[in-house]
Amino acid sequence: MKRPLLCALVCALLLGGCTQPVQPTPTPTPHPSDVAVAPAESTIFAMDTVMILRVYGSEEDLDAITKRINGLEADLSVTRETSQVWKVNHAKGAPVTVGQDFIALAELAHELGERTGGALDITMYPVVRAWGFTTSEYQIPDQGTLDTLLENVDYAALTVDGTTAALPEGMEMDLGAVAKGYAGEMAADLLRERGVTSALLNMGGNVQTVGAKPDGSPWRIGIQDPNQPTGGYLGVLLLKDQAAVTSGGYERYFEQDGVRYWHIMDPHTGAPARSGLTSVTIVGDKGGLCDGLSTSLFVLGVEGALDYWRTYGGFEAILVDENNNVWLTGGLKDTFTLQDSLGYTLHVVEE
Ligand code: AMP
Ligand code: MG
Repeated sequence: MKRPLLCALVCALLLGGCTQPVQPTPTPTPHPSDVAVAPAESTIFAMDTVMILRVYGSEEDLDAITKRINGLEADLSVTRETSQVWKVNHAKGAPVTVGQDFIALAELAHELGERTGGALDITMYPVVRAWGFTTSEYQIPDQGTLDTLLENVDYAALTVDGTTAALPEGMEMDLGAVAKGYAGEMAADLLRERGVTSALLNMGGNVQTVGAKPDGSPWRIGIQDPNQPTGGYLGVLLLKDQAAVTSGGYERYFEQDGVRYWHIMDPHTGAPARSGLTSVTIVGDKGGLCDGLSTSLFVLGVEGALDYWRTYGGFEAILVDENNNVWLTGGLKDTFTLQDSLGYTLHVVEE
């Protein structure tokens, strides 16, 4: 539908045919997102995941965030030989010129490494690879191998100096635990800068929203039930202008002799984190922070996660444990609705 026609239709509906005084001041031109009924939408494959981008704006807005996301992948991918991360990993300790995004994520990862006692450690890459999570050729490494690899795991060894970063020879980093959430955050910032007031970016389990739905009501986000990995919601979260990022043992795993091994590792053992949690969803303003927290609070377990929340705050969480308990931080009690029929026990946690 042509925009003037749409405006006329909307005006007619709103005014119900009655006359209004003519406005003496010029009418500002609305941004396309204010009047568009159909979103610009696309499905892309980036950062190892399918992303569904829905923007109540123009095709140019959609193109701009697609370029931004692809650019982040090009800079931050651990496997592309031209990426900044790859160069840092292969520079044998020499400083490598990196961009603002690399630096922002290195600082975030360092801060979360400090605050979580090393539960988030972006230098776990060689351990993650030893288990086969980088190739899907899964195996259980022996403890001697893991102990040797763990000698070269230490997030604090990554140094940033001005516009360069360096990692000691023998160590390798990977921003996979934070990059997708950060990409959502950056895409949302870019859309807001462009005047878009409504968007829903689904980045493979990470959801980033801009504003509310075009009708002003919050987005309704289904949070996956970790016990139904093929689908099925634990509950529904109402979200406006924020990110919701989930880490779960069900997302990527293999089984051997009836035991499940997943991709979220405890840097203290070199093995999949067995904290009793099966999924962690973090809700907050900053997608990168939410992503780093979803991974590291999964490693810390319920008590550690809630301690962290009480100490630092600035986000809300939905924690699911293997005994079918759901722990909800107080700020979500009016925006998250647990699906009754699943048999979970809900605990609302206040500060
Ligand atoms: P996420 O899906 O955001 O929870 O991130 C999980 C990914 O981060 C894994 O696939 C690994 O590549 C990497 N990873 C696993 N354990 C850790 C950890 N403790 N700290 C940092 N990165 C990790
Ligand atoms: Mg994460």
